[in-house]
Amino acid sequence: MKSIHTKLKLNNKQKTLMAQHAGYSRWCYNWGLSLWNAAYKDGYKPNVRKLREVFTNHTKPLIPWMKKLSSRVYQYAFIHLDAAFKRFFKGLGKYPKFKKKGRSDSFTIDNCGKPIELNGWSHKLPFIGIVKTYEAIEATTKKITISRQAGDWYLSCSYEFNATTTPKKTDVVGVDLGVKTLATLSDGKVVTSVKSYRRFETKLSRMQYLNRNKEIGSANWKAAQLKIARLHRKVASIRKDALHKLTTYLAKNHGKIVIEDLNVRGMLANHKLAKSIADQGFYEFRRQLEYKCQWYGSELIVVDRFFPSSKTCSSCGHVQEMPLNLRTYDCPECGLSMDRDLNASINLRNAVGSVVNACGRSAADSSGRSRK
Ligand SMILES: [Zn+2]
Repeated sequence: MKSIHTKLKLNNKQKTLMAQHAGYSRWCYNWGLSLWNAAYKDGYKPNVRKLREVFTNHTKPLIPWMKKLSSRVYQYAFIHLDAAFKRFFKGLGKYPKFKKKGRSDSFTIDNCGKPIELNGWSHKLPFIGIVKTYEAIEATTKKITISRQAGDWYLSCSYEFNATTTPKKTDVVGVDLGVKTLATLSDGKVVTSVKSYRRFETKLSRMQYLNRNKEIGSANWKAAQLKIARLHRKVASIRKDALHKLTTYLAKNHGKIVIEDLNVRGMLANHKLAKSIADQGFYEFRRQLEYKCQWYGSELIVVDRFFPSSKTCSSCGHVQEMPLNLRTYDCPECGLSMDRDLNASINLRNAVGSVVNACGRSAADSSGRSRK
């Protein structure tokens, strides 16, 4: 079992929702504890299962605000109360105390037996809806606890981690990373950039353009720079999220994944911004693929950067110059006419077994070594 504890990025509405659920959880826990105490005083032998029955059948229906919140919360509040009493009776803990507002506010929810998938930077939680995290996480879990620490909300969960080999639909896939499209796979699948990413990117270039005549260092310039930096971060994190989904898909479903080493031609439009984003994306893409391939039992193959994947015809091997503005590879030798990224990704796939080598090292290293 591994566990995750990570900060949530919430808007005000979500923060209120979290506080309401934590309040609900606290209310039920305290209600159960006070009823337990009262019952005990009157000579009964209380147990949490009975308390919960009373709550479900008699108390909850009378309190309207509870209907607006997830009913999983109260179930877990009683489970936690039960656990606290069990610890006490075993001599492992003190007698349960009432929970105070603002002190370890938390609640637990599940998906009614179905797994909760966490993947990337934004996550769909049962009842709560979409929440974002500041870092990418990946887990399949049964329940999630959300808690407040120093005014910030955190998500924690534990999950079973198996580095298991998943069944592979495809033996070998070549992947060509791009800017306009996130990636082109040699089987023809095109992964487009997230829509919002493009929108923010356009906004970003417009802001940079508008900022060009401002006096450097002026208040106006500084304010604009700050805005640009924020937007830049946003664009980067959207791309990172998309990369997570892509790398998981690749590593789970393909036996060998062939990519090109950095300094890759095509993905870099001359434009500085596109370049920096693409560069970051590439490092992140490769880093994620490296560990995910280990997780899912696939192999990452990095082809030498001088391998002319975009200049070579994937059908007959003819080599020609391919300026960036040419979106289609037209081969004068065999008549092939194909999207340039797809052509490049097929070349990457075909490169397996000839000039390549596994996991991270470049082809030049390996061919040098094998010749000795
Ligand atoms: Zn050709």
